[in-house]
Amino acid sequence: MMAWLSVDTDDEIHLPAHRGHPHRSSNSMPTWRTEGYRASPRLLNATDRFIEWVEDGPQVTIFLIAEQLDCSEFTKRMDILSAMPNILIACHGWGHRCWSAWPEDAAGFSEMLIESRDRISAYAKSSWRPWFRAPGGYVAPWMAGPLAGAGFRLDSSVNPSRWVNRKMGGDWSVVQQSMEQCGLIERPWLTTRFGPACGPALSLFPFSVFARRAWRRNSHSITGEPEVENALALYWHLLDHGRNSGHWQPPLAVRQ
Ligand SMILES: [Zn+2]
Repeated sequence: MMAWLSVDTDDEIHLPAHRGHPHRSSNSMPTWRTEGYRASPRLLNATDRFIEWVEDGPQVTIFLIAEQLDCSEFTKRMDILSAMPNILIACHGWGHRCWSAWPEDAAGFSEMLIESRDRISAYAKSSWRPWFRAPGGYVAPWMAGPLAGAGFRLDSSVNPSRWVNRKMGGDWSVVQQSMEQCGLIERPWLTTRFGPACGPALSLFPFSVFARRAWRRNSHSITGEPEVENALALYWHLLDHGRNSGHWQPPLAVRQ
């Protein structure tokens, strides 16, 4: 199977411990609409390292958090990235609210999707793709209808590991079915039989050991077209590029 690479632009403030979750967050975020975002120095530095890494590199989709376009320093870096021919830009919500951790709110979710879509697509122009990743991986079957209604064609929020099914208290196959019934393509994350292999699992021992091995095994051929190819989602975070004094790289089979 082809690998489809994507990176989420989460800043420190977007961690569920800070924001977006009804029980885990210090700021419980009663409304999805946030204003006045300013990128942390850590994210800006990591983005600079990512720019160096991805220039003339593999095709990568950036899942952008819409509020981040409030920050001119961060937007300057996105300008460089969105001009690269190997970069596509998709949607990671407006302010990183963990929607399925809250009571079902299709109207609010729709409104957020439409405003995020309009903002990001107007910014990214031809680099825009109507693809979505749920903040924190918090996805539920009721989210499929609003996604389809807002014109999204692909979702990549499902982490099909037993460990996560327990945490979320649900069954990922129901989400997948609901996406398909609404006409969306679902591209679940790479997992191993030991657990998750994407995002935080890349740096979280002991998952990281198995994750890195699985990435190397599954990244021999890379596609930038997950709607066309039956692609396996391999994703990481921009902030990861700040690890190892800025020398961190995703563990791909080959440097493209
Ligand atoms: Zn995120």
